Amino acid sequence: MLQSAYDVLVVGAGAAGLYTALCLPSQYRVGLITKDSVARSASDWAQGGIAAVIDPQDSTDLHIADTLSAGAGLCDVDAVTFLVEHAADCIHNLVDLGVAFDRHHNQLALTLEAAHSRRRVLHAADTTGRAVVSVLAERVLERENIQTLDQTFVLDIWLDEQNRCQGVCLIHKSQVHWIRAQAVILATGGGGQVFAQTTNPAVSTGDGVAIAHRAGALLRDLEFVQFHPTALTKPGAPRFLISEAVRGEGAHLVDRTGHRFAFDYHPDGELAPRDVVSRAIFNHIQKTESDPASANVFLDLRPIPVETIQHRFPNIIQVCQKWGVDVFKEPIPVAPAAHYWMGGIGTDLENRTSIENLYAVGETASTGVHGANRLASNSLLECLVFGAQFRSLQLEPISAQPVEPIESIADVEFTSIEQLRAALPRLVWQSAGISRDQKTLESAIAQVELWQQEFSQLPLSQVLINLEPKKSLKLGISASDLRDWGELYNLLDVAHLILKSAQLRTESRGGHYRSDFPNTLEEWQVHTIVQEEKWSTAPIRH
Ligand SMILES: Cc1cc2nc3c(=O)[nH]c(=O)nc-3n(C[C@H](O)[C@H](O)[C@H](O)COP(=O)(O)OP(=O)(O)OC[C@H]3O[C@@H](n4cnc5c(N)ncnc54)[C@H](O)[C@@H]3O)c2cc1C
Repeated sequence: MLQSAYDVLVVGAGAAGLYTALCLPSQYRVGLITKDSVARSASDWAQGGIAAVIDPQDSTDLHIADTLSAGAGLCDVDAVTFLVEHAADCIHNLVDLGVAFDRHHNQLALTLEAAHSRRRVLHAADTTGRAVVSVLAERVLERENIQTLDQTFVLDIWLDEQNRCQGVCLIHKSQVHWIRAQAVILATGGGGQVFAQTTNPAVSTGDGVAIAHRAGALLRDLEFVQFHPTALTKPGAPRFLISEAVRGEGAHLVDRTGHRFAFDYHPDGELAPRDVVSRAIFNHIQKTESDPASANVFLDLRPIPVETIQHRFPNIIQVCQKWGVDVFKEPIPVAPAAHYWMGGIGTDLENRTSIENLYAVGETASTGVHGANRLASNSLLECLVFGAQFRSLQLEPISAQPVEPIESIADVEFTSIEQLRAALPRLVWQSAGISRDQKTLESAIAQVELWQQEFSQLPLSQVLINLEPKKSLKLGISASDLRDWGELYNLLDVAHLILKSAQLRTESRGGHYRSDFPNTLEEWQVHTIVQEEKWSTAPIRH
């Protein structure tokens, strides 16, 4: 049963939210909220693993250097050092909690991943995220101080007169509630769904960033999105990643006419760096396809010896087979896809945002560890290391009084928003995807602003955007329609924020490529900052 007040509310039940809830002092009454079921999150989908310095041949200095190099000059060195130095403790804690990482001769097995100079990635087969999340979820259910609230959609932060966070406004069973908490922790994950092509699950609609923005929190580096060059593109199938290793073994990228096009764009062809291959595919699709937002190219594994495919890629064979592609007989349809959002809600080493009593952790936060580009396997690690910081959370009681609900019923109609929900990610993919330029960004911003206005005029928007604090409202609309409405509200804000940030940064760096400003510029070695409707830059901390 939903309570009217908690000590702490954690919004999100992926790796960051679950680990945070477990680390919070057990005397606090914790509400752990997810808009879906606990099992559905990007964390659950993570494949490769978690980076940590475990091997005596490795060193924290090397892990720090690899992370800074990937971050292309925008990492916060203190945050990276903090991440790397606390990694091993978190891994040992996960093992104690019961996570069964793969072992080699009874030692934790470590693998090498792109841009890591040592073998330091822990894994549980190629479903590491599931292995971690399922154990964390089990431990959470054992804890009496944590109440899990699923199918519960957080709409907004509830601020007091001094603009401090005093709780949230949420939708539970088709009813709006105002719930008090002395601290609110946003662990809402990434925002890949704002792009037509993404590896992220349906829950990744950037809600935390949009919610924090509306509350007036400082956001940072929102233009930086990592795109993966080859994700499976089959109608109805998730954008399953087809690992770089497949191209390393000799797979060819071909278009629908069978032309091996990667060499038209770079002398290294399929083996050029990840962002170069992504751009080659993107540009080729723009040139050759009539509907580029949903078009694909193909990855042909047949140049690789059959035994090698069988030995090296059993999971890829299996997943492709499930979606009707026999990799031994036909090429896999693939396209680049938005994979990871480096930017987010600005936080310090203790996860504090710029709003008192409001915290952020995991992919929704911008701690400074990823800079302009994330080093593979550092993101699950970030969820854990920063989640562990909540062990020492001290609450400052504000008014913890429960709310006396004033109940009312709103008689409002739900208008279909399906068309806009489909059109928005297509526009963002075309304008703020792999390649960006001033003209396209400008016209996309104007379009999104128009859509925001239209959306705010909907009868349901008129009710939900102008809610009165404390007023509990019953809506005769299904929970899933209300969630669709809330996600579109957030996606429109997220689209606007990414487009405007991408327009501001007139250079190319890490996950942000401007075809009209293709070089990395020293004067742009700064963060982009958004607070309310003001965009500015801030120096990085060396
Ligand atoms: C296919 C794939 C493979 C990956 N592989 C790796 C890997 O090998 N290693 C690695 O380090 N990283 C990997 N990543 C990235 C990593 O998985 C994510 O960065 C990380 O899991 C994010 O965790 P999180 O807890 O911040 O968010 P998530 O795990 O996405 O959880 C978000 C939670 O917030 C909830 N939520 C969101 N909005 C609301 C709202 N309004 N109200 C209530 N609840 C809400 C959701 O329901 C969900 O429970 C991968 C990502 C993908 C998509």
